[in-house]
Amino acid sequence: MNLNIDIETIIIVLILGHLFSGILGIAYMIQRKKDITTYTFLFSRLFETVAWILIGLRNIINNFISISIGNSFLIIGTTLQIIAFLIIKNCYTSIVKKFYGISTIVSICIFNLVALFYNIESARVSAISIIVSILWFFPIYVLLTDKNSSVLQRVIAVIYAVEIVLLIFRAYIGIKLGELMNLMSHNIYNVLFFICLYLIMLMGNVGFILLAKEKSDFDLIKAATYDELTNIFNRGTFLLHAKESISLFSRRKEPVSFLLIDLDNFKRINDVHGHFAGDMVLKDFAAIIEGQLRNYDLFGRFGGEEFTILLPGTNEKEALEAAERLRKSTEDTSVNISVNSIIKYTISIGIVTTIPDENTSIETLYKLSDDALYMAKKNGRNRIEIIKA
Ligand code: GH3
Ligand code: MG
Ligand code: MG
Repeated sequence: MNLNIDIETIIIVLILGHLFSGILGIAYMIQRKKDITTYTFLFSRLFETVAWILIGLRNIINNFISISIGNSFLIIGTTLQIIAFLIIKNCYTSIVKKFYGISTIVSICIFNLVALFYNIESARVSAISIIVSILWFFPIYVLLTDKNSSVLQRVIAVIYAVEIVLLIFRAYIGIKLGELMNLMSHNIYNVLFFICLYLIMLMGNVGFILLAKEKSDFDLIKAATYDELTNIFNRGTFLLHAKESISLFSRRKEPVSFLLIDLDNFKRINDVHGHFAGDMVLKDFAAIIEGQLRNYDLFGRFGGEEFTILLPGTNEKEALEAAERLRKSTEDTSVNISVNSIIKYTISIGIVTTIPDENTSIETLYKLSDDALYMAKKNGRNRIEIIKA
């Protein structure tokens, strides 16, 4: 069966599509000079554009350049595109890097050996189709199976999975049709294949831009929400959620407890073991406390080595029990800073418990808990003091 669409037109559109994506990519990249993901994606599009130009110019330019260089560029372009996706997914580890380095070289060698020793067009079509589908398998698998994948990531994986199915089908048709299957064949399989390839290229471009945007939004939100060192809420986020929680509990007329925690003699830890070891202690402390809280308790780094906790629905007695658990658990742990060096540390806690009303402000709770903390420090550290608002 023949369709009234000629492959040459589709290939020209494919080349132009890649080319314009490349131009848009360059325009985008000018603003984001250090964005390695965009660079990688852009280079993948450039390699693919050149590849399709070379492949499209068969019989016009030297056949070796068209077939060998064209398909080798296609393999490199595919690999770069895959790498761009893996970087976005934070999966481009050194092992993956090695794997794709080696598999690109092996794939180019295999294709050229097929072209050299079994120089039938359908065999080359099948070889390149199989190679590209094998290369795509890993990123699709990662995007589909990672439970943290976004909906967008899954949809993109499905689109590329469709490409793999098409490629495998094309390889099969290449083997089945033999001499009848070549690049410019006007059979329905070939025409449909190129139309799909074009659509997948378009969707791949849009998908990549959306993915890059999704990732940068996520990174920005994370940086604005969490403390970089300890990965718990920063001051702003803590205050935001604490205000909401206090307002909720003032309507319910139930108590909340506000805890201010300060590490004892922390300056000495820094002086004796160094700032880096001090940072390790802060991380250790945050992880221990976080592990002990309920999922609706709020925990944030207020600044330096000062931390705040809001325990909603918690009265004085329960707050004291909780604080004692936290104090004890830090007292009982030690941080390994090197093979034979450990640091032990303690904390002091100031607590204020109140049944909030519309006049209760976080500033007042902070001030009162700070007074209680001051008492705890004055009374010898590694202890808890409580104030009733
Ligand atoms: P106290 O028991 O009275 O609290 O004594 P202290 O030595 O802990 O005194 P203070 O709370 O005033 O000391 C805070 C120290 O915490 C000083 C500062 O250098 C250190 N610090 C603040 N932020 C960081 C940080 O992010 N990393 C490290 N390593 N040290 C920090
Ligand atoms: Mg301190
Ligand atoms: Mg302090």
